[in-house]
Amino acid sequence: MPKAKKKPIEPVTIRLKKNDLVEVLSGKEKGKTGKILRVIRDKNQVLVEKVNMIKRHTRPSPTTGQGGIVEKEAPMHVSKVMLICPKCATATRFRLTETAEGKKARVCMKCKELIDG
Ligand SMILES: [Zn+2]
Repeated sequence: MPKAKKKPIEPVTIRLKKNDLVEVLSGKEKGKTGKILRVIRDKNQVLVEKVNMIKRHTRPSPTTGQGGIVEKEAPMHVSKVMLICPKCATATRFRLTETAEGKKARVCMKCKELIDG
């Protein structure tokens, strides 16, 4: 297999935020749900709690105390996850709207409820 050329990362609009609950759509973690820990915008990736865990070897350090193997989340592409609407509890598409206060909010396409409180 020839080594694939590194493609420049095209930024996509990420409408997900930290603490959003998402469902994994593809890969070995398909069907799992978790909370977004971090959005990595320049790589179009998200870190989802307890999903896509990898083992990392760490050195002993003053902060962790002991070295060893720790499990941590690996980032995954944002297109692999879908937001779960907290109102109707399904993985859903949503659109952006503006609230009466002029703030951007997301609306569930299914139940038409505001996702952002
Ligand atoms: Zn909904």
